[in-house]
Amino acid sequence: MFTLKLLFKKPKEQCPRCLGKGTVDWNDIERLHKKLVWLPGKCAYCNGNGKVHEETLSIVPADISYLSANLSKIERWKILSGDKNARKRVKAYEEALAKMIDKIARQYYVDGLDLETIVDIHFASLKNDKVSPKERQDFLEYAKKVVEFHKNKFS
Ligand SMILES: [Zn+2]
Repeated sequence: MFTLKLLFKKPKEQCPRCLGKGTVDWNDIERLHKKLVWLPGKCAYCNGNGKVHEETLSIVPADISYLSANLSKIERWKILSGDKNARKRVKAYEEALAKMIDKIARQYYVDGLDLETIVDIHFASLKNDKVSPKERQDFLEYAKKVVEFHKNKFS
């Protein structure tokens, strides 16, 4: 844990996620293999500063999926300070995400299901009947991306 000390120290290292730009673009996303995980925008690793603390580099890999711009400030801070429970959440998230991506790809390429059916199964498994049309559409777009991304994997 380094936390407080760093609040008063200026970060000096170039951010390895956005290469110092402060924003993540498609080139960064490609380089870090996060096409199915992130969208371009403010860099969550350096918080848009372009620079990070040396200590951060040794505690948190720049490519963890969970650390994205959607995260709250507190959660971001917990992760970057090496909080144990936050680390568990990182691991659980990365595993769940990988599992979901693999499931979509298999349903499509191995089981021969179409995207609409895959989306239906997904929301049925969440046992959540309050799915908005936007949520459904977003997931459908996501499933499309997954399928496109795995085009050559199952042939
Ligand atoms: Zn950055």
